[in-house]
Amino acid sequence: MEKKGFLYVDTHSHLYDEVFDNDILDVINRAVDSGVGKIILPAVDSSTIDRMLALGEQYPHVFEMMIGLHPTSITSENVERELEVVREHLDRGAWIGIGEIGLDFYWDTTYKKEQEEAFERQLSWAVEREMPVSIHSREAMDRTLEILSSYKVKGVMHCFSGTFSQACKVIDMGLKIGVGGTVTYKTNLMREIIRTVGYEHIVYETDAPYLPPVPYRGKRNESSYIPHIVAYLSEYLGVSIAELASAAQKNVESVFGIVL
Ligand SMILES: [Zn+2]
Repeated sequence: MEKKGFLYVDTHSHLYDEVFDNDILDVINRAVDSGVGKIILPAVDSSTIDRMLALGEQYPHVFEMMIGLHPTSITSENVERELEVVREHLDRGAWIGIGEIGLDFYWDTTYKKEQEEAFERQLSWAVEREMPVSIHSREAMDRTLEILSSYKVKGVMHCFSGTFSQACKVIDMGLKIGVGGTVTYKTNLMREIIRTVGYEHIVYETDAPYLPPVPYRGKRNESSYIPHIVAYLSEYLGVSIAELASAAQKNVESVFGIVL
């Protein structure tokens, strides 16, 4: 039998979310049929790690997993306990990276200090273990970059939504820019930033079930929509789909070591 030629890795997808419980096998099959050969599942916090592990272990040919503590899950009460859970899992599991970790000052700044401490702790684990990171940063890009400047890590600035100069800093640090469905939205500035900094610095992601590309806006996102994102950019930039796919795949290989 001929080997199927996969083009894409979805570098950030929460397919273990309950909204996929009824049709996860269809979702996986659609992803595979659309050319997505691997899907990376990022962790959020201890309440969903078991669901993620169950899914990842059931379909090991499709999924890779990351472990980490998401900034919006952090409170002053739970932060130490949650970090301990991450550390224990790091010691035991076969993780492809640490994520998603970072800062989120959009929803709430009450636990800003705890978010920063947790981010730094997890970055130091990534350095110690030479593991890549998946970074979540919302309304906090300058502070995120400031903290990152003290750590030499590989990784992805997931769902990047910053400015041109912030994008340049991300790239200068050796990180890749995660591009998802929002790039297809009318008012999004990302496609112009990509045109300027160059598509060689990006990887693709869905962040499913959130933020689906046009024409699926408002619906549940899933990994099979990656080709829509790439096709949109191909048209916008005037660069072939094959070229965009192979540039992103080079980055996936260098950051996560995933070969399709
Ligand atoms: Zn996410």
